[in-house]
Amino acid sequence: MGVDISLVQGDITEERVDAVVNAANSSLLGGGGVDGAIHRRGGPEILAECRRLRASSYGRGLPAGRAVATTAGRLPARWVIHTVGPVYSAEQDRSDVLASCYRGSLAVAEELGARSVAFPAISTGVYRWPVDSAARIAVREVRAHPAASVREVRFVLFTPDAYAAFQEALDHS
Ligand code: ADP
Repeated sequence: MGVDISLVQGDITEERVDAVVNAANSSLLGGGGVDGAIHRRGGPEILAECRRLRASSYGRGLPAGRAVATTAGRLPARWVIHTVGPVYSAEQDRSDVLASCYRGSLAVAEELGARSVAFPAISTGVYRWPVDSAARIAVREVRAHPAASVREVRFVLFTPDAYAAFQEALDHS
């Protein structure tokens, strides 16, 4: 049996789930978009843990496609799983890197024993990935995940366009 997938339009920082996934940048030191919102709402504990991870394990930054967990600070979640999406390129197919963000985040969630996970539409903001394509990759990877600890995945889409793209991917792919 696979995981239960649902869609929400809104702000991921308000989701009551075990793990919230952050579309981070490789510095792990915060940025704009969903990353900025998670750090603002979650408070300084998240950044402090990111700095420690940076110093201990990721001196050159977290590579695209990888995922790592920290506390969720003041968010109504237990953990934030930070993953770095690929920047979209029309010349080079980086779909495997985007797929790896979803797979890697789910693997970390399993290690933590999380039951519910919320994902934003990774790479579809500043990194410019076309949302229809990003949605198909996201849905495919989550559907392929064999449910163990993780039973529920919520895609939390900030804009009506992103919500529509994920709805389409869920219904037709
Ligand atoms: P990336 O650098 O991976 O493109 P962004 O944060 O720029 O990351 O955008 C990723 C997606 O997150 C975009 O679709 C954007 O609209 C969305 N987003 C921005 N803020 C939030 C939020 N608070 N909750 C959920 N999604 C958000």
